[in-house]
Amino acid sequence: TVAVVLYTSDLRVHDHPPLRAALDGAQEVVPLFVRDPAVDRAGFAAPNRLAFLADCLADLDRALKERGGRLVVRNGDTTAEVRAVVRRTGAGEVHLAGGVTAFARAREEHLREVLEGDGCRLHVHDGVVDVVPPGDVTPQGSDHFAVFTPYHRRWAGEPLRTPLAAPRAVRVPTDVRSDRLPGRSGIADVSPGLAVGGEREGRRRLAAWLTAHGDAYEQRHDDLAGDATSRLSPYLHFGAVSALEAVQRARKRGGAGAEAFVRQLCWRDFHRQVLAARPGAARADYRPRHDRWRRGPEAEADLAAWREGRTGYPVVDAAMRQLAHEGWMHNRGRLLTASFLAKTLYVDWREGARHFLDLLVDGDVANNQLNWQWVAGTGRTAGPNRVLNPVLQGRRYDPDGAYVRRWVLELAGLSGPAVHEPWRLTGPERAAYDYPDPLVELSEGLARFRRGRETA
Ligand code: FAD
Repeated sequence: TVAVVLYTSDLRVHDHPPLRAALDGAQEVVPLFVRDPAVDRAGFAAPNRLAFLADCLADLDRALKERGGRLVVRNGDTTAEVRAVVRRTGAGEVHLAGGVTAFARAREEHLREVLEGDGCRLHVHDGVVDVVPPGDVTPQGSDHFAVFTPYHRRWAGEPLRTPLAAPRAVRVPTDVRSDRLPGRSGIADVSPGLAVGGEREGRRRLAAWLTAHGDAYEQRHDDLAGDATSRLSPYLHFGAVSALEAVQRARKRGGAGAEAFVRQLCWRDFHRQVLAARPGAARADYRPRHDRWRRGPEAEADLAAWREGRTGYPVVDAAMRQLAHEGWMHNRGRLLTASFLAKTLYVDWREGARHFLDLLVDGDVANNQLNWQWVAGTGRTAGPNRVLNPVLQGRRYDPDGAYVRRWVLELAGLSGPAVHEPWRLTGPERAAYDYPDPLVELSEGLARFRRGRETA
């Protein structure tokens, strides 16, 4: 008997319930990944993510080959390719990890319908990409938690399964054709400092980071220059690392740092359960505020300056340049750049979210869109008038200015925290720095935002 494992954002062999179930129920398994142009058209593909995906697929193929198997890659429509493999092998089961986006849901539905017509069963597995699957914990009278703290309380008390070991052997039928694995080389516009993808690198990073930085995470997670967070987000996004295994390993280690890290992973599940219940929140305000976002040529120019990292606020520009260079940005940078766009410049959060999704290697519909809504104050819980001041944020989270100097090379000659306020320099000293003046006075930005909100 044959079973198919359809891989999507779960590109690993360790702790993989669909692979385990397929191996338990069948003698041979087809580990299948479909490069579907519909995914690209839906806007989920971006050069950085395609490059990281190529690494992940190559590494998954390697891991399967070590176990006597291989990865089958097909270019085409997902349903058509799965169906072709099922017909070719006579497979009676297809195993798939459950998704939360509207796109993933529609894909599941369509597959189920078509496969059932062919006499093949689709098994959708929960708890492959998340720790606690959406819907497992709900408040009374609702299908999801809209507020984090009570969600976290319930989430933290859920019993978790033991992570599954990687299988020893995977037998793949020999007569199933595979297209070539996509390589990194043909992809244009990849950020020069992009991380290397794949399960092997993700697992190495998780273990190394927990040992070196796990204990200090609580104190250091906001230190922009220290860069002491795990940087596991792209591995989690592609499922190269199991979030559940990360939680179990951190808990085993124990301590305040590990607990704080686990809490961040709870945020990830929190957003996933919101999106699963409200797929429309990927675009529409979760709680409509009827903002009168600025539009027109002036707002367009401000948005362009923000994207390019030329707002004249050094810590904002540093973070935007880190994003361009690495395809990744520190969480504190994401918070303050998002606040700057949506509040100080008062440009629609969707514009910023789109730019993030164009570049972020961990760009994720649930995490990106809902974090943007949280910062913009269109989500459920953010104080609508909380505006992050980029000068104070810079002084607080980059006290010595090292983060700014790392990314804003024009200002590298300025020592200490003075780098956060280059406009204070006068005369020839100021002229020596080829760096723009602030796009807008902070007080003016604040007034504009409040007017827009109040009249809306
Ligand atoms: P760590 O601090 O080491 O945290 C461990 C893991 O916890 C992360 O890898 C991530 O999976 C999860 N996590 C941490 N913070 C959050 C959070 N606030 N919300 C949800 N999960 C979290 N994260 C993404 O994975 N993809 C995105 O597209 C994304 N867009 C964001 C947009 C904005 C405006 C903001 C404010 C945050 C966004 N985040 C996003 C959340 C967070 O910034 C990143 O997950 C984090 O910076 C990744 O770095 P790390 O792996 O070193 O995190």
